[in-house]
Amino acid sequence: MFLSCVALLAGVPTLAYRWVYLQTNLFPEESVPRIEGLLRRAAKAGYNGLVITDTKMQSLAEPPPFYRERLARILATAKSVGVEVVPAVLPVGYAGSMLAHNPNLVEAMPVRDAVFRVKGGAAELEADPEVKYLNGGFEEANGDKLAGLAFQDGIGKASFVDRETVHSGKASLRFENPGQLTEILGNARVMQEVRLKPWRHYLLSAWVKTEGFDRADSVRATVLNTEGQPLSFQELALAPTQEWTQVHVTFNSQERTVGRVYLGVWGGNKGKLWFDDVRLEELGPMNVVRRPGAPVKVVGADGTTYVEGRDFEPLRDPKSGTVPWPGEFETYHAAPSIKLIPGGRPKEGEQLRVSWHHAQATEHGKTAICFSEPEYRELARREIRRIGGLFQPKKFFLAHDEIRVMNWCEACRRRGISPAKMLDEDVNFALREIKATRKGAEAFIWSDMFDPFHNAVADYYLVNGDLRGAGSSLPPSLTIVNWNSGRPANSLAHFAKRGHRQILAGYYDSDPAQIKAWLADAAKVKGVVGVMYTTWSDKYDDLEAFARAAWGSKTPLGRR
Ligand SMILES: [Zn+2]
Repeated sequence: MFLSCVALLAGVPTLAYRWVYLQTNLFPEESVPRIEGLLRRAAKAGYNGLVITDTKMQSLAEPPPFYRERLARILATAKSVGVEVVPAVLPVGYAGSMLAHNPNLVEAMPVRDAVFRVKGGAAELEADPEVKYLNGGFEEANGDKLAGLAFQDGIGKASFVDRETVHSGKASLRFENPGQLTEILGNARVMQEVRLKPWRHYLLSAWVKTEGFDRADSVRATVLNTEGQPLSFQELALAPTQEWTQVHVTFNSQERTVGRVYLGVWGGNKGKLWFDDVRLEELGPMNVVRRPGAPVKVVGADGTTYVEGRDFEPLRDPKSGTVPWPGEFETYHAAPSIKLIPGGRPKEGEQLRVSWHHAQATEHGKTAICFSEPEYRELARREIRRIGGLFQPKKFFLAHDEIRVMNWCEACRRRGISPAKMLDEDVNFALREIKATRKGAEAFIWSDMFDPFHNAVADYYLVNGDLRGAGSSLPPSLTIVNWNSGRPANSLAHFAKRGHRQILAGYYDSDPAQIKAWLADAAKVKGVVGVMYTTWSDKYDDLEAFARAAWGSKTPLGRR
């Protein structure tokens, strides 16, 4: 205790919390001995906590007996070696496992007044002839200069019209060895400005092929607004060498009438990359979300609002939030049509205006849950109670990181508050639930969404509104697990000023010795109380090296 008080004031942080982060899956039996081995190693190296996440902790309403039995074995081993197990709860920004209970709780973006036409008992989306990607087959060109583009990087140097390797027709676009475009840092892209209708859901698709393309993970097909901010955030997951593959990206136009479609690579280096048969088209109600805060509206040519269940059958997309399993959303599949009920009011040939909300994934299928639909809070409450019952923990870890989509549906918009405030309210709700479940339990949370030098910013992915100020109403008793080693001085000082204690989530699958420099920065602020060995690739090889670098023999360790 004395040591701890001294260290709070003096230069060397007392590392009372020496944690390991583990993402696991307890369904395979062999996970248990593996985790037990990790616990023993961790204890020997001086660690005293294990933060554990398993999507099954969220997705299973009632964990089967074998799951409880495995968990009990892990908890017993942890206790015997003196490592405390801290369960993670509420992964609201990686919400698939929570959404397994009800995929319709996904945060959903609005489509407004899309044009449908009644034909033969159904209404189908009517394509807008003005919205298109011109010369998407790359057939029209003058030498290597393609028609229809606003710009093309490295014409004849790194971007070419290929008349031999094509997906269809007689030509394709080929990028080759973009690293030679040193003046633009290997960026090799084409851009075309396209017309959009506001508040519509669009699909951008293309056929892509690669050959020895070493920066395949930096290849993008994306749409930006005229200020250069992205409207789409999905990644393509290409391999360096891969045969012709169709890629899909979807986006909501928001209030925009012009989009900039980019295809190519940022920071490319070596190899070949082809594009062909690019298409831009409006989507019907694919991944439509059905809940009170995400209403569907169908309006007839004379302004009559048609009634679901009387004029048209309940609108459902059976693949929305169910493929490949509950809680997951496919990037693209065919949209359902609106089926009319015989005897209903819409007439053959009538033009309808249809509004709905759709799930919108970012990156590789990541979705966020809606904070405002009342059912969400029931779900979150049940999860905290369930995990509280399973682990009987003294500590909970709130997994509120990287929340990319927020504040679009009517349930959210009706609250009339900023996403920063919405986020704080959610965390404070979770803290109340934790307190109600396990009296006296401590709570911990990832830093990024509350860090103005990280993700608490004005424009963040598909967050509708401003995240600046997030975290300002959180209690100082909540400990911040800081992973902003990129801007250590600013970030550490920010949370210290708010009175939070902090744990440094270091390692990140790179040099374990880097924690030393970060701890030196931490010595300049009060309240840094620990470190966490954090791996995203299940890599524990450096567990001991990280421990030596972090606390070696000189750092005071203190009691929790
Ligand atoms: Zn919402």
